[in-house]
Amino acid sequence: MMGKPYSTLLRLSAPIHWCYGCNVPVLSKRCSLCGRDTMRIRLTPPGDAYPVLYDAQKRALREALRGYFGDEREADTFLPRGKLVLLNEIPHVDAAAEVIVDGQIVGHLIFDPLAKRWRFKPVLHGVSRILDLRVGYYAVVKLPRIARRFEVHRSHIAEGELPQRKGEFVALGTANGKFQGVGELVRSGRIRVLKAWRSKKYVELGARASFEDVVRANAGRLEWLEGEAIEFLRELRAKCSERPAFVSFSGGKDSLVTLKLALEALGDVPMLFNDTGLELPGTREYVERVAEELGVELIVAEAGDAFFEAYEVFGPPARDYRWCCKVVKLAPISRVVRRLFPRGALSIVGVRRYESGARARSPRVWVNRWLPGLISASPIISWTALDVWTYASLRGLRLNPAYSAGFARLGCWLCPACDIADFVRVEREFPEMWRKWRAMLSRWYSLKGLSGAYGRMELWRWRRLPGNISRFLEKAGVRLELRGLYRAVGVGVRVFSVRQAGGEAVMRGSLTHREAVVPLLRTLGEVEARGGGVVVKGEGITLTVDADGRFSLSADDAKRGLKLLAGVWLRATRCVKCGLCEQLCPTSSVRVTRGGVTVSGGCVHCGACNELCPLVEYAASDYAEAVLSQLSEGGLADGALSS
Ligand code: SF4
Ligand code: SF4
Ligand SMILES: [Zn+2]
Repeated sequence: MMGKPYSTLLRLSAPIHWCYGCNVPVLSKRCSLCGRDTMRIRLTPPGDAYPVLYDAQKRALREALRGYFGDEREADTFLPRGKLVLLNEIPHVDAAAEVIVDGQIVGHLIFDPLAKRWRFKPVLHGVSRILDLRVGYYAVVKLPRIARRFEVHRSHIAEGELPQRKGEFVALGTANGKFQGVGELVRSGRIRVLKAWRSKKYVELGARASFEDVVRANAGRLEWLEGEAIEFLRELRAKCSERPAFVSFSGGKDSLVTLKLALEALGDVPMLFNDTGLELPGTREYVERVAEELGVELIVAEAGDAFFEAYEVFGPPARDYRWCCKVVKLAPISRVVRRLFPRGALSIVGVRRYESGARARSPRVWVNRWLPGLISASPIISWTALDVWTYASLRGLRLNPAYSAGFARLGCWLCPACDIADFVRVEREFPEMWRKWRAMLSRWYSLKGLSGAYGRMELWRWRRLPGNISRFLEKAGVRLELRGLYRAVGVGVRVFSVRQAGGEAVMRGSLTHREAVVPLLRTLGEVEARGGGVVVKGEGITLTVDADGRFSLSADDAKRGLKLLAGVWLRATRCVKCGLCEQLCPTSSVRVTRGGVTVSGGCVHCGACNELCPLVEYAASDYAEAVLSQLSEGGLADGALSS
């Protein structure tokens, strides 16, 4: 049975249809090119398929097909050159996408992160086509049916062409024509069935369509979408007439389309570009050119070298340890917004629901969690990637040249959300930049005692490895011991003992840099001097620190208590000067200077600065978790902590 999240996603899937007369994807029930009805095609959710337009994408696809079919001619027979191809990203250990041709799914384009090559795995209609044409690796088996995990022996094979190398994919069909599937070659020439289904029939469509045909076939919808987005922006502007508006421009296709719509709807509106310091080379120049060509005022927020400076404290960012978003995005944007729009603003952004499952329920208008004066709104919230590509073409918008180099998503080039396929592209296009980053990572690996496999799979991208990655590594014979790995710089807060007492955890230990730490303790609660030391009473915690730096910390929640103490220690000694605490303190009690952070007597102990600080949210939290898990494993803590 289908799981609930999947069925929900399917409902929220991009409504991609196909016109089988014109052989083009259409986002509506009627084709604007021929006027005929179209048919919905079922893609893996969220189904945000996009066209293969650039040579670099075509090369990756051809490389994968050549690998499967062995020679160019067979690959061309299977997928003739010049045919329109759509890709739809699917979950996998690295980059992967469904390949859609003639309105049918013919296979998966998969990046093998260990071999660092693109592979083609035939599925569904593609398997049917292979069996019809008798090309590539295939086997027709003398079995009534095939099912997942079943192993096909040589004696079962009536006819076929098998690969030599283990792990290669093989298209499968039963001789009775009822079932098809895909398998992989395992030991002694057997084929393990990876997936099987009731036979499909590939229907070759004669019509050759170009991308221009796709644009024309979608013209009706695009005009409707454009009109709706413009009306939405005008109404919003009327409702928030007090607020100045700007377009958040990232340099990607979605923000370019958003900028175009905002200019149509509102006339003169500035664009805000945040240079994270991690933009692909050429992006900044591209943004400046767009502003100049469209005659738009360009506001630039700059993170400068903030990432690399903060890296020395935090270690590499990870998908579940994204300190970088605060340091290179939130902090510089907040600085500019507060300076230029002190009474708030309307930020027009190009966020789309179909981009990912996580965005499926994004509202169209929202208030920024960290910048309460900022109302954000996306005119293209319900657009698909295909809408964006076709609209950009319809309106002749000039896209970032990084797309033609094969980059599918722009943004920070070392983002932990990237796949290895993305990094391979960065390395190919900008080898020197990548070499420096790799050297930084290598230093970190050796500091933390991590093996070569860790680097080969770019495992720095996770704090906790997800199940599919662990399984993949296990299958590939790679062993890793990662429990309790703490990523950031050392923290001078040592915990000697943890004890449960009356529903509270009581931790005893000592801290270094007492003189620097004590003035910041007021962010945790009321501070009282007592016998050469201090007592801090805050929400859910009581802390005493004596004159030598020995402390006793009672907390309702051990992890939260230790995180706050370690966090204040990090703020006092390792501040990365992002400035967020200074900007967002409600009583303006924080000052951040070259020397570090200070908190004055006006502080009302609200804790907002600790909540905001990336050192507290990421490094201190990570530290508290690692310390408590070590203590519970070492038997120092009682049972309550290990549960
Ligand atoms: S945000 Fe300001 S008032 Fe609140 S705890 Fe921090 S310094 Fe004090
Ligand atoms: S203490 Fe303030 S300036 Fe320093 S890292 Fe934390 S939020 Fe940024
Ligand atoms: Zn048509």
